[in-house]
Amino acid sequence: MNIAVIAHDKKKDDLVKLVLKYQKALENHELYATGTTGKRVADATGLDVHRFKSGPLGGDQQIGAYVSDQKIDLVLFIRDPLTSQPHEPDISALLRLCDVYEIPLATNIGTAETLLNAVEAGVFDE
Ligand code: PGA
Repeated sequence: MNIAVIAHDKKKDDLVKLVLKYQKALENHELYATGTTGKRVADATGLDVHRFKSGPLGGDQQIGAYVSDQKIDLVLFIRDPLTSQPHEPDISALLRLCDVYEIPLATNIGTAETLLNAVEAGVFDE
């Protein structure tokens, strides 16, 4: 699967912890990420991560373009609802595209963990 991961600044530690926990399962998949999130994940795990631009510089929109090309199968976007994000319209656009294309999407760690359990169990395998 092609899996996109994104986390707002205050949530990056949580996402890195989650990726470390599911690293074994994720080794069999392609990871895509916004710039800073991708660097954090790659540094912590040594996994290959295809990095787009940082979110505020267009990375969310780049991932959205991949979603609309049906090149992304699952999105983990760990949001920080308590901090205002200058690129909120881009974030909403990406979430909307996931709904348009019915791409499984987690916006918090609880759902992300549920989806990764499903990935690990091969639920998405054909
Ligand atoms: P970042 O972008 O990974 O480059 O910080 C994420 C975002 O803010 O959407």
